[in-house]
Amino acid sequence: MALMITDECINCDVCEPECPNEAIFLGPEIYQIDPDRCTECVGHFDEPQCVQVCPVACIPVDPQRMESRETLWQKYQRLTGEAKKEVAAAGVSPPEASSSDVPPSPSGRGLG
Ligand code: SF4
Ligand code: SF4
Repeated sequence: MALMITDECINCDVCEPECPNEAIFLGPEIYQIDPDRCTECVGHFDEPQCVQVCPVACIPVDPQRMESRETLWQKYQRLTGEAKKEVAAAGVSPPEASSSDVPPSPSGRGLG
């Protein structure tokens, strides 16, 4: 499932740099998510990073974009495949795959 940003967005800017797929961008009025780039963070993190950081909880699942985890994984593969091609075109060797790809755990703590 791709996620979407509702009109409750306060344009606080914190989600955009957290997206590993560069799927979030500032639209005419509020931030938006490109559904072709949102993998719900599958392939990168266990939880959607934008949802983790949004202070007003305005990023639900887009009901128009119901996708299985398999489909999201394929989207991730396509996106990272494109990234690798760009790296190869630049003449730089991609880093070796690591088996210890445990993502850093989000703090999950408020400022309390
Ligand atoms: S769920 Fe992940 S991939 Fe999708 S917009 Fe949020 S941060 Fe980006
Ligand atoms: S974190 Fe939430 S409120 Fe802030 S810009 Fe992103 S969607 Fe909007």
